[in-house]
Amino acid sequence: MSNGQPTLLGIPYDASSSFLRGAAFAPPKIREALRSPSANGWSETGIEVLAAGVLGDDGDVAFAEENDPRSAITAAVRRILARGRRPISLGGDHSITYPIFEALAAERRDVTIIQIDAHPDLYDSFEGDRFSHACQFARIMEAGLAARLVQVGIRTLNQHQREQAARFGADIIDMRAWAAGARPSISGPVYLSLDLDGLDPAFAPGVSHLEPGGLATRDVLSIIQSLPGPIVGADVVELNPSRDLNDRTAFVAAKAVKEIAARMIETA
Ligand code: MN
Ligand code: MN
Repeated sequence: MSNGQPTLLGIPYDASSSFLRGAAFAPPKIREALRSPSANGWSETGIEVLAAGVLGDDGDVAFAEENDPRSAITAAVRRILARGRRPISLGGDHSITYPIFEALAAERRDVTIIQIDAHPDLYDSFEGDRFSHACQFARIMEAGLAARLVQVGIRTLNQHQREQAARFGADIIDMRAWAAGARPSISGPVYLSLDLDGLDPAFAPGVSHLEPGGLATRDVLSIIQSLPGPIVGADVVELNPSRDLNDRTAFVAAKAVKEIAARMIETA
């Protein structure tokens, strides 16, 4: 299987983090958890994701000091897409989603983004940085790189970000709405952007921004398993191994990767 093959891409980049560095060390921890002999390679839905030839891996983006890191990310994603494959990017901080979309948008701009996150990441600029991990969805939407933005798990909206959400027509299912039973209504093609701080810190303590009152691991898996197809790409971001406890969050990330890959295959 090469056409549409889910393919991992490590993006060890955290220079656009606003609070703590450390997410750059996440890709090897996620791969290690994914391959851990503590579990088998099957998705809950019955696909053997770790069987030979099912999940591709393009390794990590190589960053050279003389080159722009966002260009390096865009180029690496473009190489995956050019082979007809689908990227599952392992962050890295959440700023990486913008250069990923610069690659995707060269092929299509009709994608619905479903973003799982405590934060909307819609600042026009944050601490003087328009490419901060608090701004990437403003950059994507203002450039028209995606058709629609659906945000789930949000619990940190301020007035500026409410105005930005209205400006971009973002559909926000915040945690209070989620708790009241609201669920996203989406149709394909979709891209999933999973910021692990969307989960409650009880489930995913290994993140830089601990924001209580979030999603359970099961909530996130249910969202993944009910995504419509085609799923054109995904990212799993903001794991900070220096904050993790017994690799607990790395295993959440790896489980999500396994289910995302399976869902990509099921809906291809
Ligand atoms: Mn985020
Ligand atoms: Mn976040």
